[in-house]
Amino acid sequence: MIGIFGGTFDPIHYGHLRSALEAQEIFGLTEVRFIPSATPPHRTQPATSAEMRRDMVALAIQAQASFICDSRELERAGKSYMVDTLVSLRQDFPDQPLLLFIGTDAFNQLTSWHQWQRLFDFAHVVVMTRPSFTRQPLDDFFIARHTEDPTTLANTRAGKLYFQAITQLDISATAIRQLIARQRSPRFLLPDAVVDYITHNQLYETN
Ligand code: ATP
Repeated sequence: MIGIFGGTFDPIHYGHLRSALEAQEIFGLTEVRFIPSATPPHRTQPATSAEMRRDMVALAIQAQASFICDSRELERAGKSYMVDTLVSLRQDFPDQPLLLFIGTDAFNQLTSWHQWQRLFDFAHVVVMTRPSFTRQPLDDFFIARHTEDPTTLANTRAGKLYFQAITQLDISATAIRQLIARQRSPRFLLPDAVVDYITHNQLYETN
């Protein structure tokens, strides 16, 4: 089973890395693919180039062999739609279950994603929740796909919706960018190699 973590990663931080590791251990993922969004469809274009955001992901995960920096969205023109990414991943991995991890915020917006129903043709969707999370009522589309049995995810390649409580450290890329703009240190919120890259390239120094 392969885990997929998409994001802007502007920059990647320990909130992303810790939850990915926890997900890997819970589901027994053979690998976790971090996929920086080149041109995020749902937000203003990040100030940091996609190549730099990709480089920071690569630096952050270099010591964890099962974590892969997947830059396929940088190789496509136009908006980075997740459905196109899943089509491409499915071509590369025809037989493996694919688990697309999204936060609860993303799940609440999921029906605004481009061709969102088709996501389930190519992957399972795992919503990372907090322990106290109360779920919104699911509509018929989601009820039909919802499972509470994790073994179903391993036995089918795609098509299920699953909710999993995952620790979410109180770290955000926005807060890191704001710290740096105020000349405060972001150390210990993200890997040292990424801090060094940010310093070297003078990223986020102005808001
Ligand atoms: P920003 O503050 O710029 O919005 P972010 O820190 O939320 O950035 P993104 O790259 O937008 O990071 O997020 C990518 C994915 O990581 C999303 O699915 C988001 O829910 C998840 N995520 C972000 N922060 C955390 C965290 N602290 N713990 C677990 N998951 C997180």
